[in-house]
Amino acid sequence: MNQTTQAKQILKIILPTPFPVGDVNVYLIKGERLTLVDAGPKTEEAWLSFQHQLKEYGYTPDDIEQIIVTHHHPDHVGMLDYFDHNIPVFGHPFNKPWLKKDEGFLQAQARYFEQLFLIFGLNENFLPSIQKLNDTLEYSCNRKLHHELVEGMEIAGLPGWLVMETPGHAQSHIVLYEEKTGILVGGDLLLKDISPNPLLEPPMIEGAIGRPKPQLQLNNSISKLLDLSLSIVYPGHGENIEHAHELIAYRLKKQAERAELVKGFLQKKHLTAFEVCKALFPTIYHKQLMLTMSETVGQLDYLEDNGQIKIDETNTPALYYAVEK
Ligand SMILES: [Zn+2]
Repeated sequence: MNQTTQAKQILKIILPTPFPVGDVNVYLIKGERLTLVDAGPKTEEAWLSFQHQLKEYGYTPDDIEQIIVTHHHPDHVGMLDYFDHNIPVFGHPFNKPWLKKDEGFLQAQARYFEQLFLIFGLNENFLPSIQKLNDTLEYSCNRKLHHELVEGMEIAGLPGWLVMETPGHAQSHIVLYEEKTGILVGGDLLLKDISPNPLLEPPMIEGAIGRPKPQLQLNNSISKLLDLSLSIVYPGHGENIEHAHELIAYRLKKQAERAELVKGFLQKKHLTAFEVCKALFPTIYHKQLMLTMSETVGQLDYLEDNGQIKIDETNTPALYYAVEK
């Protein structure tokens, strides 16, 4: 299939968001069923912009037959609330508590982070900011997931398209791949100008041992793409990606370099995760606590996984130290 046919099969719609990341991309796939991949944030502005762009393609929201979400973040799911309740919503099962803003789940999440952040060395003054964690959910939806998508599944109404589980940026993250054309609809797995944050999340599986390690998951998820023939990646933010394999190599290299920097701090001194965070992000850590802590813990998990650092967990907070000075 050539580029023109590809372009006709997938239509890109760019929507404004109230978030620092800027615009979000959603996609219409013209399969057997007209499928929307991701919905923007829940704002009037995004919804109006969506309808306007849809009209230019000759559609109205009622023409959309199903919606797939790549992950649960508000800029990708919020606008679901504007759609008819009969439109089936597909996504990874881990989206469920987020899509319906399950109160019990959200409270358990806050308690989980209170514990975890003490282990990471944050003092109690920072705990109130954990309560603000879910402020962005005001732009999210209150919906249910109708159909679960997991690794290797074919999607109804989109013959030839496969689901790949790609956790890291979110535990619920999936991408859609059409082997025949090498097209990947990638959500926030791979972005052209920024590296997606490996966001800390509580374990999603009951009885799981330990917490998810999003940076390791993200590296693994993008590395899986190296085995695929890719003609184009349609990302959740920014421009389309034509040389995905090169970008993946670049992302992995940059991450390893940042980890080296962190290792340098730990060769001088034993540090808590929070102390490393303050050294890495001295000017923004207090404003962007979750993002900067996630990024920091990502580097620590990576170094620990490589055997370059160790953790002394005898006391709270835990102390990280380099194996070789
Ligand atoms: Zn996201």
